[in-house]
Amino acid sequence: MRMSAVQARLERYLELMKKMKSYEEALGVLYWDMRTGAPRKGLETRAEVVGVLSTELFKLGTSSEMGELLAALSEREAFESLSRVHQRSVTENKKEYDRSKKIPPELYQKYVVLASQAETAWEECKPKSDFETFRPYLEQVVSYQKQFIELWGYEDNKYDTLLDSYEPGMTVKKLDAVFGALREKLVPLVAAIAEKPPLDTSFMRRKVPTERQRAFSEYILKEIGYDFAAGRLDPTTHPFATGLNPGDVRVTTRYIEDDFKNALFSTIHEGGHALYEQNISPELIGTNLCTGTSMGIHESQSRLWENMIGRSRPFWERYYGELQRMTPELGDVALDDFYRAVNEVKASLIRTEADELTYNLHIMVRYELEKLLMNDELQVADLPEAWNAKYKEYLGIEPPNHELGVLQDVHWSGGGFGYFPSYSLGNMYAAQMMAAMREALPSFDADVAAGRFEPIKAWLTDKIYKHGRLLTPSEVIRNVAGAELDPTFLTDYLEKKYKEIYKL
Ligand code: ZN
Repeated sequence: MRMSAVQARLERYLELMKKMKSYEEALGVLYWDMRTGAPRKGLETRAEVVGVLSTELFKLGTSSEMGELLAALSEREAFESLSRVHQRSVTENKKEYDRSKKIPPELYQKYVVLASQAETAWEECKPKSDFETFRPYLEQVVSYQKQFIELWGYEDNKYDTLLDSYEPGMTVKKLDAVFGALREKLVPLVAAIAEKPPLDTSFMRRKVPTERQRAFSEYILKEIGYDFAAGRLDPTTHPFATGLNPGDVRVTTRYIEDDFKNALFSTIHEGGHALYEQNISPELIGTNLCTGTSMGIHESQSRLWENMIGRSRPFWERYYGELQRMTPELGDVALDDFYRAVNEVKASLIRTEADELTYNLHIMVRYELEKLLMNDELQVADLPEAWNAKYKEYLGIEPPNHELGVLQDVHWSGGGFGYFPSYSLGNMYAAQMMAAMREALPSFDADVAAGRFEPIKAWLTDKIYKHGRLLTPSEVIRNVAGAELDPTFLTDYLEKKYKEIYKL
């Protein structure tokens, strides 16, 4: 292909991509609006609007023109003449294009309808703890997932292709190894803590008016370096962060009067996601690389800020006085008691309410079950029994009903198989990143204790944030730590922290 022809194709490709990004940003604003107080009576029409725009976006991404452009730009000579950003953009887009093209549109349409019905069924069945009514929906969702796996293809394990869609390059082989190492250390640690007398955390249930919680949430976001000129904070029921572009990254949190720690840590968690998106390099704006590189790396940033900084002793040495000033309800609670309370470990049944330590065990239960389901080694009908057995084995407790057990998460009804491991991968990445950051910044603890987050944010930006999706997840971790993912950083961090808190 002549160079002028390559140039013309590149320009057309960039134009199409910009159009897709515009649809994405518009959809992002609509979703944000729906989850932060859009009028209830308009929601039905809004859902149709979202459907129309999503279909347009899907058509643009899978059009024959896009296919031809990607094929032409991927040819060796043309590809080698592209800049690094454009090369990576084409590679990523081609991967997604090929994946979408392998599913016949009629099959996909049927699946979308089923998934939405299954989610509705789940919503109705969960509070009734009724697995039997939900079962046929889940059976169909699983059967579609298996069909997709065959169409997408796989090398080693059927579950690999699902993992790859959330965490590029991740496989069952790698996950079995890291989760195995994690479980070996965590199960006995959780058991040892369970032997200790429980902490008194009753003051964490004191009523704190929403207005006070909101004021502290805003204050702490500013402190950690969240830019309010490039974002905003709003209340919602299920907190999330949404990056429309680096100049508009919105966070949400949830205020519960008799559980103020909910907003406190949700805010820092979403703030961590937002710091990532606010600091992506401007040169990636308008491309498919202007986003986090994977679910796991994204989650590493929320958890690094929420748990490893936001639940650390130096952090509260700096901010507890301020929290007490803004929250007089805590006036008589000592720093030590507060620090221990926000790090309380207790085996519980609900993943979303789990502490930093046991959280990983909740994820491993789901990972093991998903793997069995996708490899035909477990039938949906036997899922509740298998769920309860795994909880007994990993956490030492058993759900009294399905609402608190197998029906608790929305993910499976919507076909989100392969997503759960991202949460634990995030914890593992975060611990490894923290170790590297401590080495690079010897004054790390003193900086946190003084509320000096600028050097920390600058280091994270340089190593992770600015690259967006220009680097793959394994390139990010190698860029940060000079090594592949290694679970011992997380187990070392957790053992050190919790042995001290629980005096083991
Ligand atoms: Zn998150």
